[in-house]
Amino acid sequence: MDSIKDIVRTYSLKDISIATLASHSALQILRGARDEGLRTVLIVEKRRLELYDEFRNLIDKYIIVENFSETLDVAQELLRENAIFVPHGSAVEYVGPERFRSLPVPMFGNRDLMIWEGDQKLKMRLLKDSGIPVPREYSLEEEIDRPVIVKLPGAKGGRFFFLATSREEVLKRLDEYVRNGVLRSREDALVQEYVIGVPMYFHYFYSPIFRRVEILGIDIRYETNIDGLRRAPPQIASMFEPSFVVVGNIPVVIREKMLQTVLDYGKKFVRKSIELLPPGAIGPFCLESIVKDDLSIIVFEFSGRIVAGTNIYVGSGSPYSWLYWNEPMYMGRRIAREIRIAAEMGVSCLELILT
Ligand code: AMP
Repeated sequence: MDSIKDIVRTYSLKDISIATLASHSALQILRGARDEGLRTVLIVEKRRLELYDEFRNLIDKYIIVENFSETLDVAQELLRENAIFVPHGSAVEYVGPERFRSLPVPMFGNRDLMIWEGDQKLKMRLLKDSGIPVPREYSLEEEIDRPVIVKLPGAKGGRFFFLATSREEVLKRLDEYVRNGVLRSREDALVQEYVIGVPMYFHYFYSPIFRRVEILGIDIRYETNIDGLRRAPPQIASMFEPSFVVVGNIPVVIREKMLQTVLDYGKKFVRKSIELLPPGAIGPFCLESIVKDDLSIIVFEFSGRIVAGTNIYVGSGSPYSWLYWNEPMYMGRRIAREIRIAAEMGVSCLELILT
């Protein structure tokens, strides 16, 4: 395969398009490209076409597939469109990590960071090494001295996660999962301190062109059934085990005096990612956090690409993005802006934001 740099050099930079998969945050990625005057290509599964065709005004070209796992087969078509592929939370999962990594199409962002994101242990290592406070982690040999959340590998949207308060309980549940085929081996699970506080998910954008980290917004995930159990009287809530299946997102702002910490974490993350996974974080990423009552912020995972929580701000922008940009700047548009400016500056700039 030609290197991504060689491919970009064959592109007509005045006629770049943005390509994405029809899922997750595709609508705002398309809309952002439109707002920045770029062409759009949507790879869409037949079964999803009806929905996306409602928004055909945002789409210049469809590439229709039976399944997103065929994305590799349509690479040549993407190259003919001078396409830059913008990955989102469904990309690695639906295309498959190996096919995703080897997709011979210029991609906005660092594809290795997205692969690390899928491995719970590597993911926590990057956060820890960045110097960002993370929840305590337990091995299966250790006694557990506080509530823990046990996480299974893979982007399962919180499915099968469970809470426990003792080592015996953790081992019993994991063995059950192994017997039922939900889990390959109990060592694959991550046992993490369950931090008490409120969740906040910080949306960042690292711009290699402007050489700065921007805080573009914050959201809270709306998770069933844990968020529903809060509404139930305690005697009813105690009859159910909480689950953490994300079904939506809610906007939030943080106390202004805490923004410095949020910014520090973003900068630390970018710095360490450049060291461990060059060229490092590029464009959108998210630090998923719990804020405690002493105002400390504990980060329990990251996403190395656009998160669906940014969908809240489509069109309008967030209170923070207004401060940077003084115009309605939402994540999909911010991505397209970076690509457009880099393309206008020439191929050596474009190379800074692609892998
Ligand atoms: P995740 O799939 O890792 O994002 O976790 C799903 C949900 O579990 C999160 O949105 C949080 O509500 C919750 N959660 C995950 N890790 C922790 C933690 N260490 N402490 C408290 N809550 C957590």
